[in-house]
Amino acid sequence: MTRCTIDLDAPGKQLGHLRVPRSSNTSGWSSLTVPILTIGRGDGPTALVVGGVHGDEPEGQVAALNLARATRPEDVTGRLIVIPCLSPEASRAYTRLWPSGANMNRSFPGSPDGTADEQLAHFVSTELFPRCDVVVDIHSGGRTGLCLPWSEMHWVDEPGQRRRMVEGMLAWNTDWCCVYIDIAGTGLLVGEAERQGKTVISTELGGGGHVTAAIHRLAADGLTNVLRHEGVLAGEVVTRDALGRPEPTLLMATDEDDYLLAPESGLFETLVDLGQPVEPGEPVGRIHFLERPDREPEVIHAANAGVVCVVRAVATTEQGDNVVVTGRVVHRSELD
Ligand SMILES: [Zn+2]
Repeated sequence: MTRCTIDLDAPGKQLGHLRVPRSSNTSGWSSLTVPILTIGRGDGPTALVVGGVHGDEPEGQVAALNLARATRPEDVTGRLIVIPCLSPEASRAYTRLWPSGANMNRSFPGSPDGTADEQLAHFVSTELFPRCDVVVDIHSGGRTGLCLPWSEMHWVDEPGQRRRMVEGMLAWNTDWCCVYIDIAGTGLLVGEAERQGKTVISTELGGGGHVTAAIHRLAADGLTNVLRHEGVLAGEVVTRDALGRPEPTLLMATDEDDYLLAPESGLFETLVDLGQPVEPGEPVGRIHFLERPDREPEVIHAANAGVVCVVRAVATTEQGDNVVVTGRVVHRSELD
């Protein structure tokens, strides 16, 4: 069972750890140690901020570390719980998956007597989510994907929850916002938080194996503004209008055909750039064959009209790898 070394319900600022028992080849009685902070003051909503679900996505980890260090109890109304990095061993390895091969974002809701990732997910699902009103889970494209930086949400059926999630997504003040579906399995952190009725806000902030200063600023400013919007953090909520920016472009990538997969293994060449509009049937990429210089590359075509929102960042590609994602531009009223 995962153990937490701090009282999550106590006021003030506390730093502790989640300890998940596990064995390794160099230590029979070892614990995976995941830092956690709570900053509580008075009555108000509780927000959970999670970075580093995937180890090769440093944007959220850096933003959450800065937030955790800078936030004082007098800045908070209610409670802020921060886990700067849920997958520290994956972060140290700078890999998406844990060294065990586990994908932390396929481990939810977890199990009290499962593998270490399942035990950790079970603690988050049963001890943290029930305490929360708001869950913020910061992702990016990691090493393998280059995403338009966007804030995102799943479509949820309950209108009140959906409205709160749309407003939270917009409060990140990104140029792009995206409603997406899971094409690579179940067990997502956000899926379990949504099932528990929480206001769930997530992101895909760039990626491609590197982080620019602009992306770090977008992560920090968006996170602060979302927490102000949700009433947890003191300070004035900033709108895009006040920043002199136009309305964001809203995308729906909710059709499986929006997620284009490599038909064969080979070397991927993108023919499109992020933010580029495409029409159905338009070539978006090609797969080349190193062993067959005489062979024409295999062309991948867009299935749906939309905007290119993800391009594969690693050229070496296996059959079935996602190479491009398109999203349909929608009006705000379609999210009501
Ligand atoms: Zn991720």
